Amino acid sequence: MTSPHDLAEPVCARCRRPVCTDTAKIRRNDPRVRVRMRWPEGPVCVRCYTRALDTYGICAGCGVERLLPGLGSCGTPVCTDCAGGLGQFRCPTCGREAALYTRMACAQCVLAARLAVVLDAGDGTVRPELVPFYKAVCAMPRPRRGLVWLAKPHVPPILRALALDEVPLTHDGLDTLRPWRSGLPARTTRQLRRAARSRPVPAVLPALAAALARLHRPAAPAVA
Ligand SMILES: [Zn+2]
Ligand SMILES: [Zn+2]
Ligand SMILES: [Zn+2]
Repeated sequence: MTSPHDLAEPVCARCRRPVCTDTAKIRRNDPRVRVRMRWPEGPVCVRCYTRALDTYGICAGCGVERLLPGLGSCGTPVCTDCAGGLGQFRCPTCGREAALYTRMACAQCVLAARLAVVLDAGDGTVRPELVPFYKAVCAMPRPRRGLVWLAKPHVPPILRALALDEVPLTHDGLDTLRPWRSGLPARTTRQLRRAARSRPVPAVLPALAAALARLHRPAAPAVA
C-alpha cells in the first residue's frame, strides 16, 4: 500500500527544499535542487552537504573536537561516527578531516600548493615578506573561497608581480594594483587603506587575507 509520505515530493533532509533525485532531469528554472549525498537522515542537497563539511567544533555526542558533518537528535552538530558513519573525510595529503577537493587533497592543501606556485619568488620559495600573507590565505576557514579568488584572471598576475619584486612592496606600489581590491566591500577597502598608512605594507597583507576569508561568510542575523 502506498502511504501519503511515499507520494510527497522528496526534500533535502536539512533545508527541506525540494530535491531532484535524478540530476539529468533538472531543467532551467527548475525549483528543485541537486542531491549531493544520501545520508541516514535522507537526501542532502549540495549546499547543505558543503555546509556540513565546513562545520568543525566539539562533537555533542563524544566531546571530541573534529569535523562535525552530522546532526544529533537535538539538531546539534556531531561527528561522522556519532552520526552513524557518514563517510571517510580524512585528507590523504595533510591528514586533516575535511572534504576532499581532488582525489588526493583537501581544498586547504590545493590552495596552499597553487598559492605557493603563484608566489614563487623564482627559487622555489615564497618571498619572505609575503610568507605572512601566504600563511593567512592558507589558513582561511573556507579555502574553497580562496581557490575561487585565486582563479580570477586578474589575481595571479598581481601576486606574481609582487612575488618577483616587479611591483615594490610599498604603499605606492600597491596603489598601482587597482584590481587587487576588487570584490572587497568599500568598508574593508577603507580599513585596509587606513591600516596601510600607519604600517608597512607586508604587515597589512594578512589583514587583506582575513578580509578575503570574510567575504563570502553568511551575514550575521540582524539584531532586532
Ligand atoms: Zn539542503
Ligand atoms: Zn562524536
Ligand atoms: Zn589536506
